[in-house]
Amino acid sequence: MTTEAIPGERKYVYAFGDGAAEGSGEQKELLGGKGAGLAEMSLLGIPVPPGFTLTTDVCRAYGNTGGQYPDGLGDQIAEHLSRVETALGSGFGSAERPLLFSVRSGAAISMPGMMDTILNLGLNDEIVAAASDEESGRFLRDCYRRLLTMYGDVVLGVPYEDFYAAVQEAVASAGCDSDQELSIEALDGLIARMKEILAEHGQEFPQDPQEQLWGAIGAVFESWDNPRARQYRRIQDIPEDLGTGVTVQAMVFGNRGEDCATGVAFTRNPSTGELELYGEYLLNAQGEDVVAGTHTPRSIAPTEGEAGLAARFPQAYETLEEVCGILERHFRNMQDLEFTIQHGKLFMLQTRAGKRSGPAAVKIAVDMVRERLIDRREAVRRVEPQHLVQMMAPVFELAERQRAVDEGRLLAQGLAAGPGAASGRIAFTAERAAEMAQEGSVILVRNETSPEDIVGMHASSGILTTRGGMTSHAAVVARGLGKPCIVGADDLVVDDMAQELRVGERAYGEGEFLSIDGSRGEVLSGLLRAHPSEVTTALLGDGSQPRSEAVEAFVLLCGWADRERRLGVRANADTPEDAQVARTLGAQGIGLCRTEHMFFHEERIAWVRQMILARDEERRAAALEKLLPMQQEDFEGIFRALAGLPVTIRLLDPPLHEFLPHGEKALARLAEQMDESIEAVRDVAAGLEETNPMLGHRGCRLGLTHPAVYEMQVEAIVRAALAVAREGLSVRPEIMIPLTGVEEEIVRLRQLVVDRVESLLEAAGSSLEILVGTMIEVPRAALMANRIALHSDFFSFGTNDLTQMTYGYSRDDVGRFLPSYIEEGVVPYDPFERLDVDGVGQLVEIASRRGRMARPDLKLGVCGEHGGEPHSIEFFERCGLDYVSCSPYRVPVARLAAARARLAFGAGGFAEGLDGPVVA
Ligand code: PEP
Ligand code: MG
Repeated sequence: MTTEAIPGERKYVYAFGDGAAEGSGEQKELLGGKGAGLAEMSLLGIPVPPGFTLTTDVCRAYGNTGGQYPDGLGDQIAEHLSRVETALGSGFGSAERPLLFSVRSGAAISMPGMMDTILNLGLNDEIVAAASDEESGRFLRDCYRRLLTMYGDVVLGVPYEDFYAAVQEAVASAGCDSDQELSIEALDGLIARMKEILAEHGQEFPQDPQEQLWGAIGAVFESWDNPRARQYRRIQDIPEDLGTGVTVQAMVFGNRGEDCATGVAFTRNPSTGELELYGEYLLNAQGEDVVAGTHTPRSIAPTEGEAGLAARFPQAYETLEEVCGILERHFRNMQDLEFTIQHGKLFMLQTRAGKRSGPAAVKIAVDMVRERLIDRREAVRRVEPQHLVQMMAPVFELAERQRAVDEGRLLAQGLAAGPGAASGRIAFTAERAAEMAQEGSVILVRNETSPEDIVGMHASSGILTTRGGMTSHAAVVARGLGKPCIVGADDLVVDDMAQELRVGERAYGEGEFLSIDGSRGEVLSGLLRAHPSEVTTALLGDGSQPRSEAVEAFVLLCGWADRERRLGVRANADTPEDAQVARTLGAQGIGLCRTEHMFFHEERIAWVRQMILARDEERRAAALEKLLPMQQEDFEGIFRALAGLPVTIRLLDPPLHEFLPHGEKALARLAEQMDESIEAVRDVAAGLEETNPMLGHRGCRLGLTHPAVYEMQVEAIVRAALAVAREGLSVRPEIMIPLTGVEEEIVRLRQLVVDRVESLLEAAGSSLEILVGTMIEVPRAALMANRIALHSDFFSFGTNDLTQMTYGYSRDDVGRFLPSYIEEGVVPYDPFERLDVDGVGQLVEIASRRGRMARPDLKLGVCGEHGGEPHSIEFFERCGLDYVSCSPYRVPVARLAAARARLAFGAGGFAEGLDGPVVA
């Protein structure tokens, strides 16, 4: 195919269809996913109606110039349009042989439903009136009222609901069951009513098809920047400058009678990953009806019998199966397809990599390796960390579910569209869901969701819709977000006016509790206790049960990830039980054991309090004496669980005041235990109060002012290590000093630790290697890393405190302003959740570099919350850290994220990317 732009002029328009294309599937950045997919299908000889794609360059030019098109675009469009006319023997604007177009968006990364689409473009009063027979008269009117709705909504800004209500009224007054049954007269009435609606909003539908085309193209480009698309990009981390392509494609019609249909299909089941043709279709309808969730479609599965696609359209079904096979082999990935059957003949309108649930992602990746479609490395790239999070998400306890069912609390059964269980309070609008989610978990309950709801969906723990199918907006978006989701629960009625969810006689209002099981499709009233997922149960069980295929696939994939990653993965664990979980889930050590968490045990806290409030050193020593064996016992448990692997134990960190009792009763009990008056105890406690405890007397500052506490802890560690070593197990303790900011702090505390260790080992006549290092969580420590490293065997970045102190945001008070900061775009995300690479990241990088400059063998790790967050892990990989440490249940996710980061950045490491801002 040849259509060169005029020499010297940039090419903005690419043709496709009829077994040929100017672009290809490789050009997603330029043509958008839809344009590239259509080009590739055309090249593969798959039946695709002809059309052309305007490139994302046009979108960027349009955005940058406030709505101007580049020179020459008009001519290129005109030329391509006339080629489609010639190919089809019809004319755009012709009343005898009208050619209609769809105008659709398509970015390089799919943003389902976020941008706009207009179908049936090119109709007007004259063309409709010229229909030659009753069949085409009815059909053109059906198309026209759809065009008025979409054009009115998308281009002219008239609310969609007004048109939707007009359709409902027309159906009701005609006394038929659906809009598909409206007569010619009823459709004429509906068209007239829609024009009135436009006029009520001061708008008029342009009769000139050319004007329609330009209006539609402009609207699609504008939709790149609509608020919901922007929010979706923010949530999904899609770059702002990608831009959308615009695909203008000759319409084929699924609404042209009972031998026509439209549908969506997946080449594998997107919920389970099973290799089966999966999807939905609607008879005598257009694509938007399926996606918008306004009609509940039928499954295309052969098991549907008479109503199934295979029975009704055997020829088209066979072609669809063939096309699926070709596309899967070609793209080596599960595809999400849109198709239309016009008078029994199949046409493909879209192909893209299909969104899938966590279990499906893992199964498909593992199966495709077995089918030799992809290699293991590619399988690791295909599965996102979020997919594993989903597989480890809790499910409802079976007994509790049964009780709820027996109590009649099973309200409805819908389609299991997004796996996982969620309980929370009902919210009926996305706005309320976002607000209420700040107070606790929320279930968003709607008849159907629309792209506008993205923020509320993101904030909700689960999503429930009464309408729609597995490919409705709610289902697709929920799967993408990893949320439990049920759609099409049509026994339920959502009354938006009354703000009520009704089932039979019962009604539930906003704020009432609801539970959904997105794996079974069950909606239950009230709260249900959740329990660990199949994967978690199987991995942490005693191994006596055979593992399911899903669990095996999970384990296999994590193993493949381990082969690819460089970063070690440790866990933050404070008890032997947590340490055991971490080990089982693949942790290669403990990166942070917060010793103070052990202090809160019921039988310990009294001694901790007595130690803190002791009037003299003698009493303090007595309290410490009591605590020592308790700490030792815990450490022994952890060393045993991690036999042979490193265990980093942090000495006491929080301000002492945190351990003191609240309330008079507790104070009185403590006074009695201490044999002191209440007043005396209260006075000492009051003396410990601080205005700003986070920046106060804590961490190594405590160690220097109360050395006996650290000495006791070191003794407990050494004794525990020796005891476990005597059992024949190897132990690798690492002692970590928190909150260092000044070189002298680490100098003195290292000396304290080393002296204590040496004297204990000498007394025991044993030897043991114990590393002594520090956390880097004060900005000054990061800057002084070259000095601090001289006295440290390792650094562990405490990115929670480092973030707090770099931003000057109190960790405990950010809830007051951070949500609105994020909402308003002041900051792009919560820096306590995802590492702020630009700012805090600089400190991590500076400290790593300066630390290693002073001491090349310095070990580097991170133990703040960011150690389990995939974006942050990517940064730590580039930064050249040795390991990340995260909560035990996060370990598999971190293993995968570390592998993906390594695959993305290769062995190149960090230096190139982030050299710039660093002051060496
Ligand atoms: C940190 O600050 O990142 C850290 C791990 O310590 P904590 O959260 O206990 O202050
Ligand atoms: Mg800290």
